[in-house]
Amino acid sequence: MDRKRRNLSGLVKVKDVVKAPILLVDDHPANLVALEAILAPLGHILVMARSGEEALRHILQQDFALILLDVQMAGMNGFETAGLIKQHPRSRHIPIIFMTAVNRDAMHVFRGYSHGAVDYLLKPFDADILRSKVSVFVELFVRGEKLKAQEQLLRQREREALERKSQERYRHLLDAMPGCVWAADAAGRVNYWNQPGLAYCGFDASAIADETFWECLHPDDRGEARTHWEAGLRGGVPFERQVRIKRAADGSYRWHIARAVPERDEHDDIVGWIASASDIDDQKRAEEALRKAIVLRDDFLSVASHELRTPLTSLKLEVANLARIARRDSVDASPRVIAKVEKIDSQAARLHRLIDELLDVSRIAAGRLELHMEPVDIAQVVNEVGARFSEEALRVGCTLTVRAPVAVVGNWDKSRLDQVVTNLVSNAIKYGDCKPIDVELGADDDRAVLVIRDRGVGIAPHDHDRIFGRFERAASSRNYGGIGLGLWIVKQIVDALGGTVNVDSTQGSGSTFTVELPRGRVGATRTATPANGHGLTSTADAPS
Ligand code: ADP
Repeated sequence: MDRKRRNLSGLVKVKDVVKAPILLVDDHPANLVALEAILAPLGHILVMARSGEEALRHILQQDFALILLDVQMAGMNGFETAGLIKQHPRSRHIPIIFMTAVNRDAMHVFRGYSHGAVDYLLKPFDADILRSKVSVFVELFVRGEKLKAQEQLLRQREREALERKSQERYRHLLDAMPGCVWAADAAGRVNYWNQPGLAYCGFDASAIADETFWECLHPDDRGEARTHWEAGLRGGVPFERQVRIKRAADGSYRWHIARAVPERDEHDDIVGWIASASDIDDQKRAEEALRKAIVLRDDFLSVASHELRTPLTSLKLEVANLARIARRDSVDASPRVIAKVEKIDSQAARLHRLIDELLDVSRIAAGRLELHMEPVDIAQVVNEVGARFSEEALRVGCTLTVRAPVAVVGNWDKSRLDQVVTNLVSNAIKYGDCKPIDVELGADDDRAVLVIRDRGVGIAPHDHDRIFGRFERAASSRNYGGIGLGLWIVKQIVDALGGTVNVDSTQGSGSTFTVELPRGRVGATRTATPANGHGLTSTADAPS
């Protein structure tokens, strides 16, 4: 076993006897040998240098308890050497004893002290005096070193106590947190559970081992969670995963979101990990229930609208015929009957539109709506819709102004374009508060821009995105009928045509809807407008 221990100062302890390094500097080897013979019995480490330069090299490499320095040396003399030793912060504190055989006058001795000497010895030395002087300085040095070491130890203990205290506080904090929290070492071995974590999983702190952590996970989640955990540890950055953790109170597995973050030291090295888990089971179940309800609703709507459409179509035809006959044979029918039949006719048409809308929704959601792309003049579509709605606009008492260029042809699906314009214009009339409505079409080489502006109830900014969602309605129009599908359909169609639709509005001051549509290359065969989530596909082959 190595019984030697060396500390930073160069002190060496051999079986608890402290050996200090002493530097002997003389350019005469015979003098060095004599010095060594005198000092060897003290049992310290004697390092010899034959010039000032060699002495400085030794000092740079290690600390010394004392330097015995000859004054008259060839080359750099003792005073010059001492001057350099005293300049250097590392060696400034080392006591120097000058040795001289020549200059015994007081001036010379004084010069030695002014160069930082602690003593001045005249050759030939008295061996006992030299040994006792050296022993005094070595003793001082050893004491100083011991004091330094004690101070260091004290500081380290203080630091450790402080660390322990902050660790304790940290643990108290973790115990006060409601969710489960774990701490792991840098390799990911779990070594701490907070109290709520232990209570949740029904473990005793004394029984905690690294493997216990995995036992509280659902058996189906364990494998993947472990792989994820190991990959996360390698990644060295925060990571998270949803896992089921067993609640000891009732044995149920509940969904949690588990997160892990690395702990780093002052060098940015990972020294451990903190993992936490929050119970999201209720939220997860609610989401699942909502998802199922939406599927059920969509299924129901799809079936119901299909079933309703066929009888409704024949009913609509019959009623339209009846209205025509009543109007034509007005001699036989009283005005009251005519009015009633016309009302039934318009309600049947409304019902039919509603069912068509529902059918569209199920088709789009199921990815079964096709776009028939062909060269279409959107100006014509806008004028047709305007004409169709002018009567209704008049009936509710507002003016509908349509401004469109002579022709704006693009590669589009005509009936879907009609649907977009129809939905936006009918909304403007419905929510327009009987005030003037402007429909304006503009175009450049690449795109058509349709702006529909009303001066009605408006929409609060926080509802702007929402109203394009399925079955979503703005708070400002609660008093109006509607089911919140028209704008969703508009958006799905516009998206599929590669365009955008936006609203600019504030509550109470009207709304402006802007649709931008790329014209595409008319005559080019454009297919497969993306079915990116909105379920639209394109079968278009446009004629040139
Ligand atoms: P619906 O009108 O049947 O409710 P839409 O999908 O067409 O469904 O519109 C969604 C919601 O957007 C409407 O309920 C209404 O709150 C709001 N909205 C649409 N157009 C306008 C408009 N021109 N002015 C004010 N609100 C509008």
